[in-house]
Amino acid sequence: MILPERSVRVRFAPSPTGELHVGGARTALFNWLFARHHNGAFILRIEDTDQMRSTEESLGGILKSLHWLGLDCDEGPVDEKSDKGPYGPYFQMKRLHLYREAGQRLLDENKAYHCYCTPQELKERREAALARGEPPRYDRRCRDPEYRKAKAAEGRKPAVRIAMPLGGETIVQDLVRDEVRFPNSELEDLVLLRANGIPTYNFAVVIDDLAMKISHVIRAEEHLANTPKQIQIYQALGEEIPEFAHVSILLAPDRTKLSKRHGAVAVHEFARAGYLAEAMVNYLALLGWSYDDKTEIFTREELINYFGLARVVASPAIFSHEKLTWMNGVYIRNLKPEELAERLLPVLRDAKLDPDSDTLRRITPLIQERIKLLSEAPALTDFFFQASLDYEPRLLLSKGLTPTQAEQALRQGRETLETTQSFDEAHIEPTLRALAQKMDWEAGKLFGVLRVAVTGKTVAPPLFGTMASLGKERVLERIEFALQKLASLVPTN
Ligand code: GLU
Repeated sequence: MILPERSVRVRFAPSPTGELHVGGARTALFNWLFARHHNGAFILRIEDTDQMRSTEESLGGILKSLHWLGLDCDEGPVDEKSDKGPYGPYFQMKRLHLYREAGQRLLDENKAYHCYCTPQELKERREAALARGEPPRYDRRCRDPEYRKAKAAEGRKPAVRIAMPLGGETIVQDLVRDEVRFPNSELEDLVLLRANGIPTYNFAVVIDDLAMKISHVIRAEEHLANTPKQIQIYQALGEEIPEFAHVSILLAPDRTKLSKRHGAVAVHEFARAGYLAEAMVNYLALLGWSYDDKTEIFTREELINYFGLARVVASPAIFSHEKLTWMNGVYIRNLKPEELAERLLPVLRDAKLDPDSDTLRRITPLIQERIKLLSEAPALTDFFFQASLDYEPRLLLSKGLTPTQAEQALRQGRETLETTQSFDEAHIEPTLRALAQKMDWEAGKLFGVLRVAVTGKTVAPPLFGTMASLGKERVLERIEFALQKLASLVPTN
């Protein structure tokens, strides 16, 4: 199927040399939202020409992260080896013939030339230029046909370089940054194809963006400086240039470049740490884009409806783990309990807690208000799964109680709960409050001892719901157990 010329086609073009970081994920998301908003195509292209650093493992990880975020592509790899779509293959190393053909065309039209300079020679000249305080640019000596002839005669294998214009300037019209001008004197005659036939990044990108009919190149700011070079390649090929939009870099709240020392940066780490993909997508969308400067929570559909490049700003975006975690908490609280239960199941299983569906259904609402990350669930709920609790007896005294007072609280608590008619939250709470009053105790003190007895923790889900979920029998068992533990602290006389 060949699409009409002007339809929106955008691409995300990762190099499979590492993990997908939040910065890359944000670029992918902006492309995806733009495509979905315009009913266009989102293309995934794998830029694997760096053979030393590209790995299948990295590609697998990137695909998995994109899948987790729900950024499905219309064309591109379906797995590490195969792809779909009318303009494939979508792996650059499978497209070498296309770059060579284009390189040959530019050679034939005298817009490019063979360069016979060896890496060693180039290095020496670069160093000499730097020593003279000059920019270390290629000195264009292979533009001279006589020189080329002589070097070719030595049997050297040539690279292909583009002949850049010597004067004037190249103007990048950027949808985020408006007009950015670059003097052509700064553009060197860059290598398009290396002597081994592998294209350089700038050449491969242009050939592929053309072949894949990309309408808008939305990518990271770090590529802005490459754009005049790419524009020159489009012009040498006599082709129309796409629209460009360079999105800002991500900074940490301390305004330094976001890095590992600020916390997780790879998407899979967030998945593992208990973030929800939809919260992640919502948060990433707000890194440099806004709808109205105040709304923060958007469904995926709303993001698709509202997203546009007009409200993408050029200034750096701040990535705050704290803000993301807050947003994740909002998403967790907004889930239907049965949806949350479904998300919690694998997390609990990973922690070797294997709830049956009834237990899961009962514990989910108890923690829904309390957790900001799914990964907090095991530590808050493990006591549901343990046959006997393992905690320091001193925890039972945590509200400043003496052992005798704690014992008194446990005994009276047990007595009261034994006779509670219906063992549900609505009955347990008033019964225990009445007990505290009868004992002339601050309710918090009584609840504190009982909480430790029932959960083994001083911080746990709400007490009455927890008791109801555990059931009368287990609650009484645990109070009995707490009394035994306490015995080690109570003076015997
Ligand atoms: N492979 C490039 C990167 O990972 C993509 C650059 C582009 O989008 O043109 O940065």
